[in-house]
Amino acid sequence: MITLYHWADGQKVDGKSGRFSDVTNPATGEVTASLPLASSEEADEVIAAAAAAFPAWRDTSLASRSQILFRFRELLNARSAELAAIITSEHGKVLSDAAGEVARGQEVVEFACGAPHLLKGSSTENASTNVDVASIRQPLGVVGIISPFNFPAMVPMWFFPIAIAAGNTVVLKPSEKVPTAALWIAELWKEAGLPDGVFNVLNGDKTAVDALLSSSDVKTISFVGSTPIARYVYETGTAHGKRVQALGGAKNHMVVLPDADLDLAADQAINAGFGSAGERCMAISALVAVGDIADTLVSKIKDRAVALRTGDGTRGCDMGPLVTSVAQQRVSAYIDAGESAGATLVVDGRQGSFDATGSGFFVGPTLFDHVETGMSIYTDEIFGPVLSVVRVDSYEDAVELINANPYGNGTAIFTNDGGAARRFQNEVQVGMIGINVPVPVPMAYYSFGGWKNSLFGDTHAHGTEGFHFFTHGKVVTSRWPAPSHGGINLNFPQNT
Ligand code: NAD
Repeated sequence: MITLYHWADGQKVDGKSGRFSDVTNPATGEVTASLPLASSEEADEVIAAAAAAFPAWRDTSLASRSQILFRFRELLNARSAELAAIITSEHGKVLSDAAGEVARGQEVVEFACGAPHLLKGSSTENASTNVDVASIRQPLGVVGIISPFNFPAMVPMWFFPIAIAAGNTVVLKPSEKVPTAALWIAELWKEAGLPDGVFNVLNGDKTAVDALLSSSDVKTISFVGSTPIARYVYETGTAHGKRVQALGGAKNHMVVLPDADLDLAADQAINAGFGSAGERCMAISALVAVGDIADTLVSKIKDRAVALRTGDGTRGCDMGPLVTSVAQQRVSAYIDAGESAGATLVVDGRQGSFDATGSGFFVGPTLFDHVETGMSIYTDEIFGPVLSVVRVDSYEDAVELINANPYGNGTAIFTNDGGAARRFQNEVQVGMIGINVPVPVPMAYYSFGGWKNSLFGDTHAHGTEGFHFFTHGKVVTSRWPAPSHGGINLNFPQNT
């Protein structure tokens, strides 16, 4: 077992608080590392390293900054398999899925390589007589990123490539369940030539988060995690005068209309319900079957679910374990609750054999039918491989269900009716919509974010909104007077 560390000013920093948490391999149950949890003082030291690096990084030319991003991209392309293996060893998701996560994060690096174009301002000559106006965007300072366990690389990469390209310095506080990806990325930045102190990793729990939220050096917070913590981070961070984007939890519905291709819908329900063992904020957890297709659709999903191979993510399985034994117990308890509440348990993930050695945190694919909206398996974000089928009579009932839900992250509709799909995208109160696409995660050059309890703040992640979030706007109005100038005039300036 190894002892991990923080990363500040381009080097490893040992923990001094005396507080540690265990990092486990979820496929075996084995404790693989001990993670130091920062005290407030240690957090302040990491933040201070980022603050000290800011003036020089801010003044580094855009050309030089983007060259470092290009080098980071090249290194990550060459070594992405190493990062995927780290993700699998701490999160549990299967290797191919971990590689997909890295690739989606890399898209944001590639987008951020276009910073020179994306940071361009505009200018107007002779806006008023002999007066020119120009807009510019400038970095803010130290940015704090607080990430969840379920995407150890991709979620931090939604933010830091853009923040760094825009001239900010970063303190990343990864989830204590999956810290090694962030530390690996820190070393990659160093190899790419990023100056020391521009990218820092602060390991810890609430104490570290609170230090970021209250530090006057930290100008923005990008948080991703569960809704109660997202709300807390948003309220506390904004109370301290920071810009905050706090992405929260989800309960994503997939509507299947009677005219849909049911084999396609069944395949995609499996992919979106059980990929990463359901530990995705864009996972489909509620399947809304409209009209008389439900029996056929449930039977098709069942056939596919029982054929999935669940086990160690390094063994070519379809689905890996849950992240911790606590998560495993929580998901099993939800299955118990669904059964007791009277839903029909079609496939029971508590049973079954798993392709792994040791005591991994496995729950197999689970399918419930005849789920009612008052049941906890419907109301709560389970964050596990549990797919609930809710039967409704009409398209209108399906939309009403989605719009009544307190979350609004992603949703999908499966149909061959273009008119119904167009109506759906117009009427549904959700941030990311898939039409015959079950997990509609936007490309890096668009922005990622939900509505309602799935996002606090008004800025989504990456895309042009990302550059906007990590910069201040400034408008410069200038006149280079001729020898004769206008003299004194106390009226409000008017354009002539
Ligand atoms: P979490 O809220 O438990 O933890 C997220 C981060 O907050 C971690 O870094 C953790 O250390 C920190 N944290 C935990 N408790 C805290 C507290 N009391 N005070 C301050 N900080 C605290 O979330 P998780 O379990 O790591 O991740 C799963 C959740 O994240 C799910 O709800 C999922 O839907 C959500 N998620 C959302 C998105 C999105 O884009 N909306 C993406 C990924 C995950």
